[in-house]
Amino acid sequence: MKRLYLDHAATTPTDPEVVAAMLPYFGEIFGNPSSLHTFGQEARRAMEEARERVAAFIGALPEEIVFTSGGTESDNYALIGGALALRDKGDHIITTVIEHHAILETCHYLEREGFRVTYLPVDEQGIVNPETLRQAITEKTILISVMHANNEIGAIQPLAEIGRIASEREIPLHTDAVQTFGHLPINVDDLGVTFLSASAHKLYGPKGVGILYIKKGAKITSFLHGGEQERGHRASTQNVPGIVGFAKAVELAEKSMPEEVARLTSLRDRFIKGVLEGIEHTSLNGHPVRRLPNNANICVGYIEGEALILRLDMNGVACSSGSACSSASMDPSHVLKSIGLAPELAHGALRFSLGRSTSLEDIDDVLEMLPDIVEKLRSISPLYKKAGS
Ligand code: PLP
Repeated sequence: MKRLYLDHAATTPTDPEVVAAMLPYFGEIFGNPSSLHTFGQEARRAMEEARERVAAFIGALPEEIVFTSGGTESDNYALIGGALALRDKGDHIITTVIEHHAILETCHYLEREGFRVTYLPVDEQGIVNPETLRQAITEKTILISVMHANNEIGAIQPLAEIGRIASEREIPLHTDAVQTFGHLPINVDDLGVTFLSASAHKLYGPKGVGILYIKKGAKITSFLHGGEQERGHRASTQNVPGIVGFAKAVELAEKSMPEEVARLTSLRDRFIKGVLEGIEHTSLNGHPVRRLPNNANICVGYIEGEALILRLDMNGVACSSGSACSSASMDPSHVLKSIGLAPELAHGALRFSLGRSTSLEDIDDVLEMLPDIVEKLRSISPLYKKAGS
């Protein structure tokens, strides 16, 4: 059976060129980059070259890049480190209701530690209104965190506008760019961000490595204590193979991005149109245009998303019912709730996220099998029968 992976927002396969670039750093170039001898200095050179490449990709300076263990750590560091560093100035943080749990749970933690957090709403297409943000700012606001694009519904936020408001008020702005880094062009100055998180495994790089961009001069308190690695930002010996792999993934993304954005956008739109026209009681979640090129999040009425996922999996198709982190729970996702979806509709939401390997033929294959699967599931759905459809 042909297997089709349409869950690239959860993770991407590591590109073979990335694996090849990493391999020497498990073998002959194994030194600790903090060591003074040649073994160490070879590893350090590779790591610093990787830092330069990743920095240049987003218009940053190499010294503004801190390598971390992934998106979650970068989000935690920006929020906890950013808030602690400015505690003397105020205790108020602003974020949004649609952030990833790596942000939301960190905000809950900070609330328990005495900070106050405002969670900005989004409209029914998942977009934050910059004016609402402007009004939420107080004299005590010390940090703003708004994601670049949402991982579930793909909604791209008006970040440059938010960045202008934040810099007018001289408040550091963090963005979780885990879903856009390597997929859409990013320039930290154009976005007006002070901190930016990214993770290699979302752009065909290895798992367990990420970055936090920290604008030169920004105040942040480290929370990993030990050695002086990463200029004192993050103690612990660096993951050199992972860092080299991240930089290779960036190099590949840089080359393919313009064509990939156009190709995926057209496949995505063909898929969305095909589902909405081909299956009754379906609707698109998120914004029709301001959305990630690879994201199609669709509500299929009168069906449990989980049942549909399992049926699709039996047919070789992998997709997801929400964010990978929350799909094990039966609660409708916080993102779908925040755009005003009724719980029974949110339960039938599916996220298809396309990637480099997705072809036109793959999309058409799914479009062909989906109506049949939906019909079968609806034929045993009490909800569907009750609605008399
Ligand atoms: N932020 C967003 C928007 C994500 O989609 C993810 C991963 O799903 C993360 C953060 C966490 O990244 P990582 O898996 O590298 O910790």
